[in-house]
Order: sequence, then C-alpha cells, then structure tokens
Amino acid sequence: MIRVALRFDDPSATSDHALEAAIFQKLACHGVPITVAAIPFRQRDGGYVALSADHAGHLRQAQRTGLVEIALHGHSHEERGNGVHGEPSEFAGVPALEQRRLIEAGRAVLQDAFGCGVSGFVPPFNTCDAMTVGALRDLGFAYLSASFDAPRDSKLAWLPRSCQMVDIQAAVVAARRDAWFGPVVIGVMHHYDFHESGAPEARIDLEGFAERLAWIVAQPDIEVLTLDGLARVCGRRTHLSQFSGLQRVLPWRLRQRLPTQHLLPVPNLSFPFH
Ligand SMILES: [Zn+2]
Repeated sequence: MIRVALRFDDPSATSDHALEAAIFQKLACHGVPITVAAIPFRQRDGGYVALSADHAGHLRQAQRTGLVEIALHGHSHEERGNGVHGEPSEFAGVPALEQRRLIEAGRAVLQDAFGCGVSGFVPPFNTCDAMTVGALRDLGFAYLSASFDAPRDSKLAWLPRSCQMVDIQAAVVAARRDAWFGPVVIGVMHHYDFHESGAPEARIDLEGFAERLAWIVAQPDIEVLTLDGLARVCGRRTHLSQFSGLQRVLPWRLRQRLPTQHLLPVPNLSFPFH
C-alpha cells in the first residue's frame, strides 16, 4: 500500500478564492482529501488582514465535506530570518519567544475562522529551526511538514514534502518498487502550478489536475490521507526518510535505488542516514 497526501499551500484572505473553489470542486468530485496550509495574516495597505470566516466561505464549505484539513502556514509569510544556508525563512533565526507569539497568533486566527483545532504546522519557505520545533511541541501540535532539512523532534510527526503535486504519478510509480516498506508520497501544490492563476511557471490546468485525481483514485494500491491522518497512521514513533545520508557512502549503483520523490517509514531513533 502506498500512502499519498496532498498539501495545498498559501490560501489566505487575499489569495485567488475563485481558483481555490474550483480546486476544491475537483477534489470533491473525486473524493480526494487534501491539507490546506492557510496563511492567517496578509499584509495590505501597511497593516495586516486576518483570514476570517468572511474571507473563508469557500474554504469552510470545502472543510464541511470532510475532505479538507486546515494546517497553519506560518503567520504572514514574511521573511523575518534566514536558515543556516541563508535561505529565506519566517521562523529560522528568529528569537524563540517571537516565534511562539507568531505561531500562537496565527493558530488563534485559523481556529476562529474555521471553528476547529489546528494540529499541523507548515512553515513558509519550508524552513524553520529548533526553536520553532520547541514551540510547536509546547503548543501541542501533532506534526511538522517542511523540507528535509527541518529539525526533528520525537514528540512531533515529521512529514516533509516529497514531490510536487504535478509529478504525483511519477512519484507513485517510483514508490511501487518499495511497496513492501509502506512508502509515503507527499505532493505539494500552489496556485502558480495552475494555468488559471496566470502564472508563467504554471504546468497544469484544472482539467490536468482532475485527470491526476482520477488516476489516483483508480489505483488499487493507493490510500489518500490528509497530513493529520498520516500523522495518526505513522505515529510519532515513526519518521519518514529518503536516506539521503546514505548518498554519501553508497556506491553509485546502490544510490540509484534510494527514493527521490517518496519517503519510507523508519523507527524514530537517532538514525544517522535520514
Ligand atoms: Zn507558502
């Protein structure tokens, strides 16, 4: 069995709600669940506009179908610090107390707008640091979905993205060779993936998205979950890995066998080869 989760980043008070509604309609048509990483605040006119129930009608409607899970996508998606390699971050390098304040304020907005608990955290730019993880643990979050470089914690399920949603079919096909290990594919998507957004880098349109969903549900060996569902199934005692540490020590022929667009569950130990 291959477990698949889809993550849709960046819906907010000021995002393209018409495109989001069309995406949710396709998901509902095919009965495919998704995790929406929503941004609680957006800068506008020198201030912040919060994602309220008024802005989130289409999201709330999709949430009521039971197919949409809401996760916290940072605070306002601003660059406030940098990761260890200089990459942009809203959290990495920011003092611990400030990080906690941003996370608490963001979660309160989403919980108010959606009337539900929020247990997942997706840092903007997929970057964060050990202070972020400590704050998430103290605040009772269940999982972190970021990049492979993100710090780990034994109390948080660690669910990094493994591929772009547009490449989901290739990722599933590659995962099949590791089917015995229970592989996981986490596909991430943004508005700019869709031609309907007007973005020059778009790779698919809504029909292409619907075709991918139809393909997913037609595969007998795929189970689609939200990230929260995945965290429950995998548990906090399991981490997902691509064994990238082995890239340095394995000969070329064996390196070819390491996963690149899917993840394999391993026990949550101080495992040196994640
Ligand atoms: Zn984002």
